[in-house]
Amino acid sequence: MQHSEIKQLFDDYVAPTYGRFDLSFERGEGSQLWSAEGRRYLDLGTGIAVASLGHGHPELADAIAEQARRMIHVSNLYHTELQGRLAKALVELIAPGKVFFCNSGAEANDGLYKLARRFGHEEGRFEIITAKNSFHGRTLAGIAATGQEKVKAGFGPAVPGFVHVPFNDLEAIRNSISPATVAVLIEGIQGEGGITAATPEYLLGLRKLCDEKNLLLMFDAIQCGYFRTGRFMSYQRILEGVPRGETFLPDAISMAKSMGGGFPIGGFWVAEKYARLLGPGSHGTTFGGTALACATALKILEIIHRDGLADHVRSTGDWILGELKKLQTEYPSVIFAVRGKGFMIGIELAENIPAFSGSESPASIQMCNRLHNAGLLTIPAGTRVFRLLPALNLKQENAVEGLQIITNTVRELAD
Ligand SMILES: *Cc1c(COP(=O)(O)O)cnc(C)c1O
Repeated sequence: MQHSEIKQLFDDYVAPTYGRFDLSFERGEGSQLWSAEGRRYLDLGTGIAVASLGHGHPELADAIAEQARRMIHVSNLYHTELQGRLAKALVELIAPGKVFFCNSGAEANDGLYKLARRFGHEEGRFEIITAKNSFHGRTLAGIAATGQEKVKAGFGPAVPGFVHVPFNDLEAIRNSISPATVAVLIEGIQGEGGITAATPEYLLGLRKLCDEKNLLLMFDAIQCGYFRTGRFMSYQRILEGVPRGETFLPDAISMAKSMGGGFPIGGFWVAEKYARLLGPGSHGTTFGGTALACATALKILEIIHRDGLADHVRSTGDWILGELKKLQTEYPSVIFAVRGKGFMIGIELAENIPAFSGSESPASIQMCNRLHNAGLLTIPAGTRVFRLLPALNLKQENAVEGLQIITNTVRELAD
């Protein structure tokens, strides 16, 4: 089917909740996607940090097919070896604790809000402090937690119990603690907010403050976690080499996106100390931790470990970041800043780029459109940032190709 026909189907039958780009995709291989028209695109967005092993990975496809033939699902009324093994693997990557499985990021965060409310319940504490510019998902509680007005507009009254303060500002958190405060929730690196990493001082200060005030420190690692920074969790990367950095640990962590490589799975980890707060009957979901999802996630972890992808993300990511910083130095009239760690890279465009002045649409979208025309997929964040969130197994030649397309496009904008 041609793109125009597909688009017509969407116009006629699909709920119009998204501003979609004018593209339809049909198949993929590694970091490449082919459109309905048969045009090849280099994919450095992977959904939004989802297709962690790229597209059409043969081993992953085999693992999914094999498990589908064996058993797709049994209810959480029963046990499966796969769910148990995946929980063990995640605990070994984080720290002693327990894992709950669900199907998406917003749902994983919802579990964290419930955990926090249970924690504070007897003392009447329920308020969760989150950061401005954060993103925590599109459910009713998710938009209440998110520190961006645009996701809340028209959906009031908001779920009560969320307070937003500036990111990377420990004093702002301290000043907003009330007798009702029960937890702090942050992203290690804000994704939708434009790729802004927490500072080491902020993380260590937060841990100390939460301990002093008996608050849960909760991490939304849905975008920045799962080896995206070259370590399993972004805080491990941010705190590397920092005195006492290796002792840092949140009380709970939500995950999703890269976890299933495109197969829906999410989950949250809770530190051992709090692992019994959500006891039998307190939380659940029909599809969470189904055999097929867990087999998929286990295969992804196996491949990441076997192929040394954490180190690959780190070295290739550092190299890409260095190249982009050179580009920024060369073209400051187009690139205002380059930020990120590993394969989570944000490029902030300069204000008032003349070539963008003819259109109402934000610079981030116009930039992504230009890159699409040049055969590259990236992801906008806010009005002036575009993101690279490539597959963890991105090939060097694809990194070179992506940089070349970005360089050419930036050069055109500078002319
Ligand atoms: C994507 C994202 C979510 C929401 O995940 P969904 O799977 O879309 O519900 C929450 N938090 C962060 C940081 C995200 O990037």
